[in-house]
Amino acid sequence: MLGFDTIVAVDWSGGNDTGATPRKDAIWAAVNRKGLAESPVYLRNRQVAEEWLTALFQAEQTAGRRVLAGFDFPFGYPAGFGAAFTGSDDPLAVWDWLEQRITDTPKENNRFDLAGSLNLKLGSGKGPFWFNGLGRDVSGLARNKKDYANPFNEKRHCENLAKGAFTCWQMGGTGAVGGQMMTGLPVLARLRRQFDVAVWPFQPLDAAIAFVEIWPSLTVGAAPEGEIKDAWQVAEVARQIAALAPERLAEILAVDAPVEGWIFGLGFEDELNTPPLRNDCFALPPGVHWTPVEEALAVLQDRLSPVTGVETLTVPQALGRVLAAPVSALRSNPPLPNTAVDGYGFAGARGAGVHVLPLAQGRAAAGDAPRDLAEGHAVRVLTGAALPLGVDTVVLQEDVQLGDGTIRFSGPVKAGANTRKAGEDVVTGQEILEAGRRVTPADLALMAAVGMREIAVRKPLRVGILSTGDELVEAGETAKAGQIYDANRPMLMGLVTAFGHTCVDLGRAADDREDLRKRLDAASDKVDVILTSGGASAGDEDHMSALLQKAGAMTLWRIAIKPGRPLALGMWNGVPVFGLPGNPVAAMVCTLIFARPAMDVLAGALWSVPQGFDVPAGFTKAKKAGRREYLRARIRDGRAEVFASEGSGRISGLSWAEGLVELPEPATTINIGDPVRYIPYGSFGIGT
Ligand code: AMP
Ligand code: MG
Repeated sequence: MLGFDTIVAVDWSGGNDTGATPRKDAIWAAVNRKGLAESPVYLRNRQVAEEWLTALFQAEQTAGRRVLAGFDFPFGYPAGFGAAFTGSDDPLAVWDWLEQRITDTPKENNRFDLAGSLNLKLGSGKGPFWFNGLGRDVSGLARNKKDYANPFNEKRHCENLAKGAFTCWQMGGTGAVGGQMMTGLPVLARLRRQFDVAVWPFQPLDAAIAFVEIWPSLTVGAAPEGEIKDAWQVAEVARQIAALAPERLAEILAVDAPVEGWIFGLGFEDELNTPPLRNDCFALPPGVHWTPVEEALAVLQDRLSPVTGVETLTVPQALGRVLAAPVSALRSNPPLPNTAVDGYGFAGARGAGVHVLPLAQGRAAAGDAPRDLAEGHAVRVLTGAALPLGVDTVVLQEDVQLGDGTIRFSGPVKAGANTRKAGEDVVTGQEILEAGRRVTPADLALMAAVGMREIAVRKPLRVGILSTGDELVEAGETAKAGQIYDANRPMLMGLVTAFGHTCVDLGRAADDREDLRKRLDAASDKVDVILTSGGASAGDEDHMSALLQKAGAMTLWRIAIKPGRPLALGMWNGVPVFGLPGNPVAAMVCTLIFARPAMDVLAGALWSVPQGFDVPAGFTKAKKAGRREYLRARIRDGRAEVFASEGSGRISGLSWAEGLVELPEPATTINIGDPVRYIPYGSFGIGT
C-alpha cells in the first residue's frame, strides 16, 4: 500500500559549509507529518544533513511511520553511463560506485577531480562532465564547453520534457545539478544500507522509506517576498505530496524509467501546484468605498486556486467532471484515410469525359483492414471504410453505371474526392481538451474517438449551504406569526447542484453566535467551501460577518451592484465562506455573479464569463450611474422584458425570469428599443 505518514523534502547543495546563519543556496529540508507542516530546517553542510536524515529516519522507524523522502537531484545518469563505468545498467550500482570514490568534508570534496578522471577514462577528457569551480586546473575537466564531446545523451528523457532542467554533466554554476548529484548519491547510498529503503522508480515502493527524486521548481511557484526560496520550496513540495490521496500518489509515481530515473510530478505540474488559499485572499483594494463588479471579480480570479483532489475515471464516468490535466489524442481521427460516401474507389484524378475501369472483386466496408488493389482498377467502397491501399479517390455510387466487371462514369473527378484524410480532424498527440474544462457529452465522443480510456479529473467540490436567521422555518413546517420559510437554502442547493458541485446541507442556524460558530466548525471538516445567506451586513443580528470578522479573516465587500447588499467573504479554518445577502433575489444574483465563478476556480475549472447578447429593451428605466444593475428578465418577441417590480424580496420574479438584463455602470436611462445585454440563465449553467 502506498500510504506515507511522513513526507520530507530536501533541497541539496554541492557546495561547502554555508555557516551558522540560515541562508539561501544551502541545504534545506522540510517535514510534513500526517498533514502537519514543520518549519523548514537549515542544514549547513552535507555531514550535518546526513546526521539529521539518519536521526529522522530512526525516529520514524521507531514510531512505525512510513516515510517518503524527496531529494532534488537526479537519481540516474543518462542511459549508458552506468554500463560504461560499473558494467551494469543498474543505477543503484552507480550510487555505490560513486560512494566508494567521493570523499567529502564540510570544507572540500573531490567531485571536480572525480569528474575529470571519469572524462579521461572515457578517452578524450573533453566530456561528458564540464565546469571546474576550483581555482586550480583539474586534469580532464574543462572550465567551459569549448571542444566539448559527450558520448552519452546530453539529458535524460525526463529532462527533455521538463522545461528548464539542467544536465547532470555540468558540475557547478547557477542552477547546475552535477555537483549535487555526485555528492548527494553517496549519502543516499549509505542511508540505503542503513535503513529499509526503496528507491523510486527503480524499485517497488514496499519498504518503510521511499526515496523519490523531486525538483521543486517544477511543481511550485515563486516564493513569496521575504521568504528564503529553498526553504519555502521544500515546505511546499512536502505539503503538495502530503495533500495527495494515496491512490493519486500511486498514479503519479507509476512511471517506467528503470535506468535514468524520473522527476516526481513531471506531467502533473498544474495539478500539484495549487497553493493554499491565504487568509487575506478576499482583501479588496483599500480606500475604495464601492468596488466595481469587475474589480471584485478580478480579485476572485487572481487569489483563488483549485482546492479539489484528483482521481482517474474512465471516459464515460467523467461526464460533468472538471479535467485535471489537458487531454491529448492517443490516436488520430480518422485513424486511416476513409471514404465519406458509398461508391467506388480508385487511384488519382480523372479528367473530363467518360471513364471505364475494371472492377476488382469484393468490397471494402467499415471495419475492414485496408487491402491491396490492383493498379488501374476500381473497387466497391462503403461509407466509413478505410481506403484500400492504392485508393485515394472515390466516385459516388449514384454517378456510376455498373457494367460487366467494369464501372463507367463521367469526369472530371478531383483527386481525393469523397474521401477523408487520416488525422484531418485530430492527429495523434494533439491536445484536444484543456485542463479545467467541464466534460460535456460531446467531449465524451471526442475522447472516445481518439482512443482515451481513462482521464484525470477533479473530485467534485463539496459546497456546504447554511441559512441564518431566527425568523426562518423549514419548508412544509408550520410557520408562526413573524416567521418565514427558508427559501434560500433550497435555491442555493439547486444552484450549486446545477453548477456541477456536490451539495452538503448545513441546515439553519439561529441568530446566535455560538450556534453559528459550532456549525461552521463542524462544516469546515467536511466541505471545501461554505455558502451562507443572511446576517452578512453589519447590523445587531448579523452574526455571520461578526464571527468572520473576529476570526480576522473577513472582508465586507461593498460592491457597486444592485441587487446585493454587502457580501461577507472570509476564511473559516481554511475554508472559504461566502456570506450572501439574506434577500433571495440578492442572494441569487450574488451567487450567479460572484460565487459561481469563484466556485469554478476552487473546483479546478476555468474562469468563465457568462455569455450574453444584446437585444432591444422592451422596457424603460431610469438608473443611477456608477453601479451595475441586474434585472430579472426574459425575451419575448425579440425584446427583453423585465419583471414589473425590482423589490429584492420578490421571489416570484426570479421564477418568472429566464435570465438577467445587465445594465452597465455608466447607464442612466434606458428607452424602449435601446440595446441591452441579456444573459440567459443557461449561460450561468442553470435552466430556466
Ligand atoms: P439579513 O441579511 O439576515 O438581514 O436578511 C435580509 C432579508 O432576507 C430579511 O428580510 C430576511 O428575513 C430575509 N432572509 C434571510 N434569509 C432568508 C432565507 N433563507 N429565505 C428567505 N428569506 C430570507
Ligand atoms: Mg437575518
